[in-house]
Amino acid sequence: MAHVPVKNSREIGLMKESCRIVAEVLALIGSRIASGVRTRDLDRVAEEYIRTRGGEPAFKGYGHDRRNLFPGTLCVSIDDEVVHGIPGGGTIEEGQVVSIDVGVKKNGYYGDGARTFPVGRVSEEKSRLLRVTEEALLLGIAEARSGNHLHDVSAAVQRHVEAAGFSVVRDLVGHGIGKNLHEDPAIPNYGEPGTGVLLKEGMALAIEPMVNAGTHRVTVGDDGWTVRTADGKPSAHFEHTIVVTTGEAEILTR
Ligand code: MG
Repeated sequence: MAHVPVKNSREIGLMKESCRIVAEVLALIGSRIASGVRTRDLDRVAEEYIRTRGGEPAFKGYGHDRRNLFPGTLCVSIDDEVVHGIPGGGTIEEGQVVSIDVGVKKNGYYGDGARTFPVGRVSEEKSRLLRVTEEALLLGIAEARSGNHLHDVSAAVQRHVEAAGFSVVRDLVGHGIGKNLHEDPAIPNYGEPGTGVLLKEGMALAIEPMVNAGTHRVTVGDDGWTVRTADGKPSAHFEHTIVVTTGEAEILTR
């Protein structure tokens, strides 16, 4: 069984600082997203902001393959890109949906959050995809309370997504977070209610539904990072870092 660390109030206080910066970065980048903007320029704005606030970008230099560490502060994933898109010289365009994922480390503790933004006017399907994914995240968070089981969260996400005719990605999951960017438990976006680890007050979780308009299947690009939908249909990603309490979870990246 996974060992899930429980955070004390001092640790949660430190996580709040990192998570506040995450929320600020997402708001800042959201305000800069427009047709014609280079993803590399968004990445630079995010890195400068994080460093000004005394934090470090958590994704930059991350990876299991030392010859191919993630080069960006942000993951920028457009349309059929699900997650882990690398910022570069390409521009974003009207009608696209752009997922921004950012991790911040400050005072030894991490925060992680993501949001998918529409660029100008987007199709009805994309608009619904974004709404359903964000709703699924909030419904999952509503199940993240002391005494519930982890897969109560997963099942709430899956139920809402599939009722809308979309699919949850299976190959990628949310995670515990704290002194490490990724800690136990792994948090799938599908599962059976009443199963998985028992949630306890003080567990810090990064809950992150990745939702595809079509098939749940995904592929990884030649760059070793960019995850795309297998059928080329769009995908959305919303993520919050939360702390489990005896009542409603506290959302640290709001
Ligand atoms: Mg995450």
